[in-house]
Amino acid sequence: MIHEYRGVIHVHSTFSDGRAGIDKIMSEANRAEVDFLILTDHNGIEAKLRGYEGWYDHCLLLVGEEITPNTNADHYLALDISTAISPSDEPQANINAVRRQRGIGIIAHPTGGAIVQGEYFEYPWTDWDAGRFEGIEVWNHAYDITGRPKNIFQLIFNILFPRAAISGPIQSVLDTWDLYSLKQSRRILGVGGVDAHGWPGSYRADFGTVCTYILTEEPFSNDAVRDGALVYDALRAGRCFVGADKVAKASGFRCEVACGEDTLQMGGRERLSDGACLQVCTPSPGLIRLIHNGDAILEGIGAELEAMLNCPGVYRVEVKRRVCGRYVPWIYGNHFFLA
Ligand SMILES: [Zn+2]
Ligand SMILES: [Zn+2]
Repeated sequence: MIHEYRGVIHVHSTFSDGRAGIDKIMSEANRAEVDFLILTDHNGIEAKLRGYEGWYDHCLLLVGEEITPNTNADHYLALDISTAISPSDEPQANINAVRRQRGIGIIAHPTGGAIVQGEYFEYPWTDWDAGRFEGIEVWNHAYDITGRPKNIFQLIFNILFPRAAISGPIQSVLDTWDLYSLKQSRRILGVGGVDAHGWPGSYRADFGTVCTYILTEEPFSNDAVRDGALVYDALRAGRCFVGADKVAKASGFRCEVACGEDTLQMGGRERLSDGACLQVCTPSPGLIRLIHNGDAILEGIGAELEAMLNCPGVYRVEVKRRVCGRYVPWIYGNHFFLA
């Protein structure tokens, strides 16, 4: 049986530049019905070292780090690490530091920008060939708010109505995600991050925006160490999807490939066999698109899609949802690999 858990990744507390401490953040997470939350303060894991990891009512707190060089670029999320990592100006060094701890390194807001004290800064990822990063934050909610407003009025609108600010992933980031998965034939985890600081939106509002849902075979047990391992295992396996709950609740999205005797979940890898069939179902109707090796090969409108898979390669599914007469980004599943 598959269990689904709704996660919020990329949150800042008063241990770096966030507005609230852990207790407040976790009470907001419970009110927002988040199952697990991964804190990633800049350049430190103080919350972990002080023993804050664990269950808070119905939400599990895990602590990683946002490695933040002093270069206005190359922010890198480090999950499942036990020692804080001092930032290097070289992305390669930060990737290696996470790998040495067998952590999960995720390129944060690869094209991200933000307005800091009235001035706009880009915080891009500058070196895609720096090494074997484990994942990409393909959708960053904060970037929807501050990253691409056309003018000050749109920025104010985005701040006042964060759930209506739906830019979604940048196509070049999705293309890069597909390209690296295909070119290197390795799993590159795609996650959604909120980048919550408790301002301009509240933590609680941000926690309902861009979530990362994981799928596990075992349920959570209330043992924080064991449950933390379930979260990290699912992320490492790519058994997860990005769901923008600010568009519509994404819970219940499923995408599987029946291949021979096996049923593959997202992130799965298998030899292609005759009759391999991909099945998608979405919690409510949308524009479902199947991507093969970076190209859209099939799309349909509805709450289900089925496709026979005849070619080896890298597949993923994305869903847009109709809002006010146009289709907006909503759900992004991780890749399947069929050899
Ligand atoms: Zn950042
Ligand atoms: Zn951040």
